[in-house]
Amino acid sequence: MKPVDAHVHIVGNGSGNTGCWLRVSPWRRPMAALMLRHVGLPSAALQGDLDGLYVQRLLELVRGSSLGGVVILAQEQVHDDQGRPVPQAGSFYVPNKYVLELARKHSEFLPAVSIHPARPDALEELDRCLAGGAVLMKCLPNCQNIDCSNKRFTRFWEKMAEAQLPLLAHTGGEHTLPIVRPEFSDPRILTLPLECGVKVIAAHCATKSGLTDPEYFDLFVEMTQRFPNLYGDNSAFTVPIRGRHVPECTREPLVQRIVYGSDFPVPVYGHFPWLRGFVDWQTFRRWERHPNVLERDFQLKKAMGFPAETFTRIWSLLRLPAICRAPA
Ligand SMILES: [Zn+2]
Repeated sequence: MKPVDAHVHIVGNGSGNTGCWLRVSPWRRPMAALMLRHVGLPSAALQGDLDGLYVQRLLELVRGSSLGGVVILAQEQVHDDQGRPVPQAGSFYVPNKYVLELARKHSEFLPAVSIHPARPDALEELDRCLAGGAVLMKCLPNCQNIDCSNKRFTRFWEKMAEAQLPLLAHTGGEHTLPIVRPEFSDPRILTLPLECGVKVIAAHCATKSGLTDPEYFDLFVEMTQRFPNLYGDNSAFTVPIRGRHVPECTREPLVQRIVYGSDFPVPVYGHFPWLRGFVDWQTFRRWERHPNVLERDFQLKKAMGFPAETFTRIWSLLRLPAICRAPA
């Protein structure tokens, strides 16, 4: 079992007729340009063939890294409570069809779809995605307005549980994307899918992202004691505030629930792990400028004390459609 990065974003501006769109407000433009340069793309790609360049670069990075594959994430639109899309509330969109297609073309990619359960066609879309080979479902309750514990979504979660499709849900604060429902950053919002038997991965282990965000990490830990089907990912843990809980996440018993993820293309810096003493000077120097940011994140997390199982655990959670499954 090769290590897998279970939290990798696909981004596009629609240049490749992919259906993707991206809206970068003027004050977020420098951050978007920085993210592109960070992964090795020119900032001009924002206005150019971003879709093609992004995928090509991502493939190069995966092939040049220790990873056996990456879970690539679709990005659903924001929807209102009636399940109508509110495109002006979101900042980017990546259709399910596109990530499913990418995964069919490239064996390095494991496709994660994204479905707002209030959509009138949510169950049908789930069927289409399962037929298309989806291995995971990704959502951001606070950014996409998904009240996961609303009873009317019970059937949706039950169907996911039946299909053994795990859920990766954003938890804790968020500062890269606009937030529409800050109260949905609370991991307790995941109670209903957990009760329905869905394997749930709380992205970022519900840690806070900005100084003023509420801290939900302890609540997340408490929930892992109640729900054996709850996991957390260590994506963006090289960022100062999110990374504060590295010591707890690398210790028993919580470490048994940790799944590796980078949050690519979110920048990866070794300064914070080094300053906090999570990695030594040699490790910091060796990886800090490594041009392959996927490998940089992988090596820093390894040096931070995340054991080998955290990098392969996702294999036991993903729905692996017949083609990838070992013969019985
Ligand atoms: Zn993310």
